Amino acid sequence: MDEAAPVPEPAAGHPGVPDEFERLWTPHRMVYVGGENKPEDPSAEQCPFCRTPQGEDEAGLVVHRGRTAFVVLNLYPYNPGHLLVCPYRHVADWTELTDAERTEVGDLTAQAMRVIRAVSGPDGFNLGMNQGAVAGAGIAAHLHQHVVPRWGGDANFLPIIARTKALPEVLGRTRELLAAAWGAGEAPC
Ligand SMILES: [Zn+2]
Repeated sequence: MDEAAPVPEPAAGHPGVPDEFERLWTPHRMVYVGGENKPEDPSAEQCPFCRTPQGEDEAGLVVHRGRTAFVVLNLYPYNPGHLLVCPYRHVADWTELTDAERTEVGDLTAQAMRVIRAVSGPDGFNLGMNQGAVAGAGIAAHLHQHVVPRWGGDANFLPIIARTKALPEVLGRTRELLAAAWGAGEAPC
C-alpha cells in the first residue's frame, strides 16, 4: 500500500482549463466501486472478516486483537479512523453472540473511542451495527460494530451527491497510528 499521505493537487498542474479548486484523489475507493471483497455467498469461506485475522496485521489493517473479537480499519471508511469491531466467529446477529463476545465487543468499542480520541481528537462519534442487508449491512453475514469518528463540518455534499468522500490519510498510515496508540497504552482501559 502506498503510505504517502495524499496531498491536494493544484488544478493548474493538470491538462485542461485551470481553476481555483484543489483535488483530493481517493483511489482506494475504487475497490468499493468495483465490489471487490464483497462475498457472493454468506459462508465463512468467502467472508473477509473471517479471512482478515488469519493474515498479518499490516496487510489486513488490523489494529488490535482481543480474545473473542478484533478491531480492524474499515476498508471503505466514512472518515479517517473508521474502525470495525468484529467477533472472530462468523455470526450475523447480536443475539447470537455469547455473553463473553458481547462484553468484549463493547469493551473494544469503548477502547477504540479512547484510542481515536488520543490520536486525532474527533468532536464526536457514530457507533452502530446494521443488522441485515435491508438495514444497510454491506457484509450482513458477519456482525461488525462501526466506530466512526466525527468532526464538525465533516459531512459535506460529497457523500450525498457523489457517494464518495475525500480522506486526508491513506489507510496504512492510519492503522499504524492507531495500533501504536493502542499498544502504547496512551488510552488505558
Ligand atoms: Zn465471517
